Amino acid sequence: MKIVIVGGGAGGLELATRLGKKLGRKGKAEVLLLDRNHTHIWKPLLHEVASGSLDVGVDSVGYRAHAHQNGFMFKLGSLCGIDRQRKVLHLEALADAEGEEILPEREETYDYLVLAIGGVSNDFGVDGVAANCTFLDSPEQATSFHQRLVNHFIRLNRKLSQGETHQELHVAIVGGGATGVELSAELFKARECFTTYGLHHIKAEHLKVSLIEAGPRLLPALSENISLATQNELTRLGVNVHVSTVVARAESNALITNNEHRFDADLVVWAAGVKAADMLAGFEGLETNRANQLIVGPNLLVKGDQYIFALGDCAGCLIKGPNGEEQWVPPRAQSAHQMANLVAKNIIHLIKSEPLENFVYRDRGSLVSLSHYTAFGKLMGGLSKGSLKVEGRIARMAYVSLYRMHQLAIHGWYRTLLVTLADKINHFIRPRLKLH
Ligand SMILES: Cc1cc2nc3c(=O)[nH]c(=O)nc-3n(C[C@H](O)[C@H](O)[C@H](O)COP(=O)(O)OP(=O)(O)OC[C@H]3O[C@@H](n4cnc5c(N)ncnc54)[C@H](O)[C@@H]3O)c2cc1C
Repeated sequence: MKIVIVGGGAGGLELATRLGKKLGRKGKAEVLLLDRNHTHIWKPLLHEVASGSLDVGVDSVGYRAHAHQNGFMFKLGSLCGIDRQRKVLHLEALADAEGEEILPEREETYDYLVLAIGGVSNDFGVDGVAANCTFLDSPEQATSFHQRLVNHFIRLNRKLSQGETHQELHVAIVGGGATGVELSAELFKARECFTTYGLHHIKAEHLKVSLIEAGPRLLPALSENISLATQNELTRLGVNVHVSTVVARAESNALITNNEHRFDADLVVWAAGVKAADMLAGFEGLETNRANQLIVGPNLLVKGDQYIFALGDCAGCLIKGPNGEEQWVPPRAQSAHQMANLVAKNIIHLIKSEPLENFVYRDRGSLVSLSHYTAFGKLMGGLSKGSLKVEGRIARMAYVSLYRMHQLAIHGWYRTLLVTLADKINHFIRPRLKLH
């Protein structure tokens, strides 16, 4: 039996690791992971890559070595189509930066397929966004933003040193969800670090960050108290928060609102909304929702196919909300983690010809980290039985523990302990920020 998982992200890599250990290593099934990248970085860390707090070169996991250690196979491949009759995947040709072909168009067969290709930012069709805004959907985009940020800081420092004291760096971020909020705070930390590490002319007043949110408040998924506390803290740091502000179009280095207010900016980041890849809406015979997510049944098999599962941000899974209303499982790392666990169980059930289990989403709460300044959030379940508001050091520790749990799922206890130790050592021997 051949199980193919497409997408080695928050959910897909956990699933491949688990199935590799349970089935691949024991020769009970062939487990193959396909991803269009060579390495994995946990997506909730991308805003830290963008600011430079995290170095993808140090913190990412190489798929090939990880697959070798955990009993599964890895192949580089970018999915572009599925032939469900023949149970075959179509993979695009891959070329290097110079345009030279690395791999031609190929096919890959499967007995069971798991789609875990995640999501991308939703520009909601707003004019000029795709062409003029930076997205933080992939490590490449986050790294490219970081390089531009570094260059802007260096230019700014030079101009200030030459007496052009009116010069500033403007960053505009659209979307007051976790990504926008966390990136805003990270930029202030980056400014502090650059000043410490030699760009002495840049002071706090030279960085202007505008955070623009269409809704009436930041962090709509969290309570009003947390949202207000976050907004106050960001304002204290120096972020200009604009709620109830709808961006109508984007131009090169500017955003224009629906009442023609203009935000000029050197860097513009679009972090509003998530949708699954447009490609999914074109897979013949498979149903998708408005966010292009593949509709899955309670056992996470996609509607209309008994050999394809979907999980994480690319899966549209309906659940009952607190008041009995129907709602989609939110596109979060914890959802991808919980879905990966269930798909692993259900694939093993299929092999043993046992009945499949249904997905039960357990909201463990939400946390938002304002860099090293503070963190806010609510924790659900566990000791708190209900929801527990957390703030400051405890919230920051809970936030960090989310990543540790992902590391635990892919590396196990021993390696996670070693990785944690290595992180602590790096904290002492390396600068606090990637400076190039
Ligand atoms: C900046 C940022 C901050 C976030 N912060 C948080 C947070 O604090 N808490 C939280 O819970 N969630 C957060 N999220 C959301 C969270 O990262 C996602 O919900 C989660 O990563 C979804 O997991 P996934 O496995 O579905 O997909 P992903 O983790 O996105 O992985 C998808 C994988 O599929 C691969 N892939 C994509 N297309 C193809 C293709 N065609 N062929 C082959 N491979 C493909 C990609 O390379 C990637 O490895 C954040 C997201 C971002 C962007």
